[in-house]
Amino acid sequence: MNSDIADRLAEVDARIADAAHTAGRDPSALTRIVVTKFHPASLVDELYGLGVRDVGENRQQELTEKERELGPREGLRWHFIGQAQTNKARAIRAAASVVHSVDRARLADALDTAGEGMPLLDVLLQVNLTHDPGRGGVAPGDLEQLAEHTAARATLRVRGVMGVAPLDEPPAPAFARLAECSARVRTVIPDADWISAGMTGDFPEAIAAGATHLRIGSAITGPRPERR
Ligand SMILES: *Cc1c(COP(=O)(O)O)cnc(C)c1O
Repeated sequence: MNSDIADRLAEVDARIADAAHTAGRDPSALTRIVVTKFHPASLVDELYGLGVRDVGENRQQELTEKERELGPREGLRWHFIGQAQTNKARAIRAAASVVHSVDRARLADALDTAGEGMPLLDVLLQVNLTHDPGRGGVAPGDLEQLAEHTAARATLRVRGVMGVAPLDEPPAPAFARLAECSARVRTVIPDADWISAGMTGDFPEAIAAGATHLRIGSAITGPRPERR
């Protein structure tokens, strides 16, 4: 098992480096987050042993359990990448170093209130790249307003934007829209230059479009087990 994961990790990292070079970008400026959702904490432990320091989870309960099970690990950062309910803000904040999925003012407020007396929390504004308003993410037209609101929360630091490419169109144009969204956020918050984009099926396109944080699951972990 261990060597399979080590091989897949090395292979994905080589593909990331290739895509970066093709785009004229420095691969060392990219953060590769390994999405470990539905896998046991032991997999995170294995990845940690292989040098992985950024892992992603999309459900609060699973994040909380795994973070507890592993205990404090030097340098390990948990990225919360899923839809967040405001009543889970305290638990998310207790476990995560970065929240990628702030998509409404009420969630920013809840995370902020939960963080009194804590170090600043890095957050990204999730943009809905689909035409379905029911999907996660703020509508692009409401993005600047959310950026201003979130930036005014004392315990949050807005680092940039996050997006998931829609299934019904090629990823490149969707990531181009996300890059435009990033530019608009930077007119409000000049140093918010992170772009979280790219999964197993589309990370080379995301790198070409300027992604700085890649969220890659199954290409590294193998197929996900049944939802726990
Ligand atoms: C699961 C998930 C990923 C990783 O998906 P893969 O296709 O397995 O790489 C990335 N981002 C989000 C928001 C996810 O929920």
